[in-house]
Amino acid sequence: MENEITQTGNFIHNYIQEDLKGELNKIHTRFPPEPNGYLHIGHAKSICLNFGLAKYYGGKCNLRFDDTNPAKEDEEFVRAIKEDIKWLGFDWEDRLFFASSYFNKMYECAVTLIKKGKAFVCDLSADEIREQRGNLKAPGKNSPYRERSVEENLELFERMKNGEFKDGEKTLRAKIDMSSPNINMRDPVIYRISHTPHHKTGDKWCIYPMYDFAHPLEDAFEGITHSICTMEFEDHRPLYDWVINELEFEIKPRQIEFAKLNLSNTVMGKRYLRSLVEEGKVDGWDDPRLVTLSGIRRRGYTSESIVNFCQMVGVSKASSVVDIAQLEYCIREDLKAKVNTVMAVLDPIKVVITNYPEGEEEELIIENNPENEALGSRKVMFSRELYIEREDFLEDAPKKFFRLTIGKEVRLKGAYFILCNEVIKDENGKIIELHCTYDKETKSGSGFTGRKVKGTIHWVSAKHCVKAKVNLYDNLVIPSEENEKELIENKNSLVTIENAYIEPSILSAEKMDRFQFLRNGYFVADSKHFTKDNLVFNRIVSLKSSFKK
Ligand code: ATP
Ligand code: MG
Repeated sequence: MENEITQTGNFIHNYIQEDLKGELNKIHTRFPPEPNGYLHIGHAKSICLNFGLAKYYGGKCNLRFDDTNPAKEDEEFVRAIKEDIKWLGFDWEDRLFFASSYFNKMYECAVTLIKKGKAFVCDLSADEIREQRGNLKAPGKNSPYRERSVEENLELFERMKNGEFKDGEKTLRAKIDMSSPNINMRDPVIYRISHTPHHKTGDKWCIYPMYDFAHPLEDAFEGITHSICTMEFEDHRPLYDWVINELEFEIKPRQIEFAKLNLSNTVMGKRYLRSLVEEGKVDGWDDPRLVTLSGIRRRGYTSESIVNFCQMVGVSKASSVVDIAQLEYCIREDLKAKVNTVMAVLDPIKVVITNYPEGEEEELIIENNPENEALGSRKVMFSRELYIEREDFLEDAPKKFFRLTIGKEVRLKGAYFILCNEVIKDENGKIIELHCTYDKETKSGSGFTGRKVKGTIHWVSAKHCVKAKVNLYDNLVIPSEENEKELIENKNSLVTIENAYIEPSILSAEKMDRFQFLRNGYFVADSKHFTKDNLVFNRIVSLKSSFKK
């Protein structure tokens, strides 16, 4: 499947169009995830942007795993990230790269810098480097090792590579300017020692390039023209350009920053997601409450709705928080005319139609989706004993209550008007059954115009319905009552209904099939646990926005 990207007019387009007027004739972008966790919806924004721009301008987009940090990286993450990008509908074709495969070339680049007198081996510890870096008001101090000779630097750097020093004992630093107003330019560390095995290169290397050195090189090696990243790298751009210029690459990639996606009432960072998974607070990386792409997928979101959402939120440099209601809007819009509607009763109460002949049943025809005739209709069995939603009946109903109450008619969807005559309660006063009568003349589709009712409620036939388990999801965190800005754990982020009753047409569902449960929301057959003998549905989203201002 291919998702359409139509977004134009953001500032990145302006930059690219400017560049295309000059010497450049094709653009080349990349999506560079670090394989240290699963992708989340923020990454989707970056994926849509990078692959979308390439497609729009007839260029290319690479998938590059930025695996220059040996700790925390993992093959499982590589597999999951590829799956998520494909699911979103994007294709890196034969351009799958790993930053770790450039370690030799990066080493060569570092040697070039040393030879040019633009890098030196430093013996200061991380703490000492930090202390001597100065701050926004005060310049930094030159390292006492800054003036080492090229020969000495070459020899020491090689010995670093050969494993002769311990972690942290030495670093390679760019020689730029300790009094630069930009702290990133104050002789930044570009290589560090780490005797940690790497998921791809094993123990071949014990020195690893730092992000700010590695990233421009990766871009340059791949011929990337526009290196799109998030705002926190804005202050690193001079260093990015410094690396590109000092190493005299012919195609100079242009770094462009944009603001990260933030969602209301949502914590998105990979580190946080990872802690939830590792502490067992959620059912794996694909828990339907997580905003990981695999979680969102299992929750039942379509890739179309995610791509639309990313386009709708747009791209800018200003940081903002997008209301999660906007994401919910996108999935409702996408499913509205696409999926079949069925009747499911989540909190059942029995209704007996006392004037309907015992043992009789009849077939009713109900449209599958009132918004889309092409989806046709289905047969639904009606009989004397039904279930309706407990909340659709009120004994002492206010005037504006248009559902079922004593002495007032309501329509059963696709069936008849019924009138409630008697309420049966158990010894504790809990309602266990409603005795109603129906009017044969009022059958849906019969053209009856005798009288009108204000409400229509859904129902299932007790004899025909099937049992299902239904998971109702909500955000993992909610604002605390004392302080709106503080997010606390939502104890009701998962409510499971063990015995929902659904009309039997649901038995034709397969894993990941989506439905509207009439009046209750959009639901998906769970990708892990659903079988024909164990019907499990997840609520994707309710029908109306629960968004409160
Ligand atoms: P996190 O902050 O969640 O840990 P990250 O930025 O460390 O994410 P990377 O794997 O380094 O994750 O990111 C890959 C790409 O996705 C980067 O170009 C990054 O800028 C972009 N990206 C990450 N988070 C967001 C976000 N919330 N919105 C838009 N782009 C994002
Ligand atoms: Mg990162």
